[in-house]
Amino acid sequence: MSKINLGLNTICTHVGEVKDEQFKGAVSPIYLSSSYEYLDVDVKRYPRYFNTPNQEFLAQKIAALEHAESAMIFGSGMAAISTMFLAFLKQGDHLVVQNTLYGGTVNFIKEEFPKYGIEYTFTNGYKVEDFEAALQSNTKLIHIETPSNPLLTVTDIKAIAQLGKAKGVLTSIDNTFASPVNQKPMDLGVDMVMHSATKYFGGHSDICAGAVASSTEHIERIWNVGKNLGGSLSDMMVWMLERSMKTLGLRVKEQTKNALKLAKWLNKHPKVSKVYYPGLKTHPEYKLAKSQMTGFGAMLSFELIDGLDSQLFQQKLNLIKSSMSLAGVESTMISPHLTSHALLTQDERDAVGISNQLIRFSVGIENVKDLKHDINQAIEKLK
Ligand SMILES: *Cc1c(COP(=O)(O)O)cnc(C)c1O
Repeated sequence: MSKINLGLNTICTHVGEVKDEQFKGAVSPIYLSSSYEYLDVDVKRYPRYFNTPNQEFLAQKIAALEHAESAMIFGSGMAAISTMFLAFLKQGDHLVVQNTLYGGTVNFIKEEFPKYGIEYTFTNGYKVEDFEAALQSNTKLIHIETPSNPLLTVTDIKAIAQLGKAKGVLTSIDNTFASPVNQKPMDLGVDMVMHSATKYFGGHSDICAGAVASSTEHIERIWNVGKNLGGSLSDMMVWMLERSMKTLGLRVKEQTKNALKLAKWLNKHPKVSKVYYPGLKTHPEYKLAKSQMTGFGAMLSFELIDGLDSQLFQQKLNLIKSSMSLAGVESTMISPHLTSHALLTQDERDAVGISNQLIRFSVGIENVKDLKHDINQAIEKLK
């Protein structure tokens, strides 16, 4: 466990700064060298070894945020997750993985695992019993995602961690949606936490990056595979990410506050038939979410009533953008059946509850009254 006991915004602002010893500048200098001294040095530095100064120091900020000993930064969320999986799974091993999962992770498992002879089982649901039922004698890792995309289901992190410990199986979580501002899975016993830093860590829809945080022992194992796979992030972008992360706490707290207000408002809206948000008392896992999250996050989904076309609605929005990704300071909406879940058949989507009316809403930092106004004026135009 990290010794760092600083507050959230202090960690965001200060932990992992690269000190400018020469000029005493207020912010971290960027070290762009791809070649470093090798004689008489403690560390042989090279960008693909994840140990150039900017990479090494920013990893400390991520570790501190996740209450982990160590962390690594990657060129994308998928580089982080694929490297983590391949560090702990080899031929003949088995992965148990949640059925509601980020699409890219599903593709990676289905398309790449057979080439390596790694077995996997997608659970039938997101309850602990579903994970336990999927375990085999060769299971080496359980991977969860909570809250999940796009229906915001909530999985019991502590119970999954305990299941893993009882069975001698490692556990990992995709903590992208909650971010460490709202959820610290290592405190609940999970072994490894991964992020698409493209989302809240970056927060301005202009950086593609990833991260993993864990014990130093696990990170060393991931590093050993990472140096071979080569998924490091350029120091220029590491520096950009450091700058972005200084406001992570401020941004995500504001976005989370906005999302709770909007979820409650949409839930009572006469033209909205359903709202999915773990912060609503009507959410089936509200109590669990409240117990394992410090805030309910800034992602929600909703359905307009029948007869109001969800695509047309998005086209009529003025402020909120219909945009593929999520977690930026600007609010965005998408239709999962046309984007993240477009490759599923209608029947498969029906089975997991993703209707054509479903809209995923990534709530930004704009003023709530303006977001409400935008939604209402778009609905008005549909009549
Ligand atoms: C975007 C995303 C990823 C993948 O991250 P990239 O940075 O796009 O590679 C993984 N998990 C979740 C939950 C995501 O939203």
